[in-house]
Amino acid sequence: MSRKEVDLFVIGAGSGGVRAARIAAQHGARVMMAEEFRTGGTCVIRGCVPKKLFVYAARYAHELEEMAGFGWRVGEAAFDWSALVAAKDKEITRLEGIYKRNAGAAGVEQVASRAVVTGPNSVRIVSTGEEISAKYILIATGGRPSLGADIPGRELAITSNEIFDLPDFPKRILIQGTGYIGLEFAFMLRALGAEVHLVSRSGHVLRGFDEEVRTHILEAVEASGIQMVKEKGLSSIEAVSGEASGSKRVTFTDGHVIEVDEVLLAIGRTPNTQDLGLEEAGVALDKVGAVVVDENSRSSVPSIYAVGDATNRVNLTPVAIREGHAFADTVFGNAPWVVDHSLIATAVFTEPEVGTVGLTEEEARRKGHKLDIYKSAFRPLKATLSGSQTRMFMKLVVDAETNRVLGCHIIGEAAGEMIQLAAIALGMGATKADFDRTIAVHPTAAEELVTMRTKAG
Ligand code: NDP
Repeated sequence: MSRKEVDLFVIGAGSGGVRAARIAAQHGARVMMAEEFRTGGTCVIRGCVPKKLFVYAARYAHELEEMAGFGWRVGEAAFDWSALVAAKDKEITRLEGIYKRNAGAAGVEQVASRAVVTGPNSVRIVSTGEEISAKYILIATGGRPSLGADIPGRELAITSNEIFDLPDFPKRILIQGTGYIGLEFAFMLRALGAEVHLVSRSGHVLRGFDEEVRTHILEAVEASGIQMVKEKGLSSIEAVSGEASGSKRVTFTDGHVIEVDEVLLAIGRTPNTQDLGLEEAGVALDKVGAVVVDENSRSSVPSIYAVGDATNRVNLTPVAIREGHAFADTVFGNAPWVVDHSLIATAVFTEPEVGTVGLTEEEARRKGHKLDIYKSAFRPLKATLSGSQTRMFMKLVVDAETNRVLGCHIIGEAAGEMIQLAAIALGMGATKADFDRTIAVHPTAAEELVTMRTKAG
């Protein structure tokens, strides 16, 4: 029997893979796409989308506390975790259906199986053993949670893969890691009523962000009632038997013990490239297992490309989507373009949330820029009646010689929404004078961005 032949075989139906498959098919390519888990990938199934839904749920807890200041009197409120999980599941299943339908409508043949590379132009569908010949192969397998040191009882811990589907609300949780995932879950679960122990080896949060942003969020952690456990590693996790069955006893390297219901490891993610046949096919991987690619997302094997977290460039959904799109246009659309990985805005859905684009003050100084710094910290109007102690923070990092705005950092309600628009301005090369010339929208928090007049440094 002759082998099936396709122009493109995509391994992984997440954000990057689906976009690449659809666009390539729209350019006329014969495309097959294999997925071993669920269509939509980490972002849709167990990442950004369910996370944001849970963040919305958590925000109602704050709203309930703050309503009284505006004259509202409400009865006793109760939160139902299983109702939230069920509603989330319904929405995720709906989105997964849309992803599948869109790929199908574009002509992509979808295979529900693991697939592995068996050569520069061949792939095996693991569930059937069928070998497919492919002119091009795209690795879009994403990442998976890192598990850290192999301590006794590590299998009792969960990761972001499991937390969205816990049968019971984790009333007491220990979270290791103070990056995006650790912090977002810490704030969200705390607002929903959990006792949260947040373990940080550095005693700080959000490595790589602007130092003032980090400090502001660290203060918010402390004010929220999240218990920071500083500079301690875990040495073991044990299941507690008897009455407290289901609990876990966590012992730290210094002997200190905490008992919780769940232990969440949020200590980074690793490219999901193991046992895919990549090295055997000659594809170069770096020391963390990421596929090494050029600016066109092409690997060391000319017929094999990779996009998204599997390449460990900028591990964010919209970046994977762009990389997948650029790949498909370049290889199948006769319209080559490359993704610009500079100036990517990002948001962290803490409480308050963070939005950031461009250089931090520290990065800008390291690069040798002479800087003018503008910043503003203030109590938002809503907080005057709500009684909330939250403060907004905004900072512009400006090149003193060219007046160009190099970085914009916002903390507060809707920071993620604001930073998307600021990113357009920064991408166009906006100067501080451009910000100043823009008339404010009043009364908003965003107006601070165009009314900061006094240099702070
Ligand atoms: P991050 O890289 O953001 O943070 C990892 C955290 O774990 C840091 O606090 C780090 O500490 C700590 N850590 C790393 N290794 C160890 C170790 N061996 N022992 C103890 N602590 C350790 O990873 P996340 O898992 O939070 O998120 C993964 C990625 O997912 C993000 O980088 C981002 O790309 C993406 N993401 C994006 C989101 C968004 O856009 N809103 C939301 C969620 C995820 P230290 O600071 O000391 O290095």
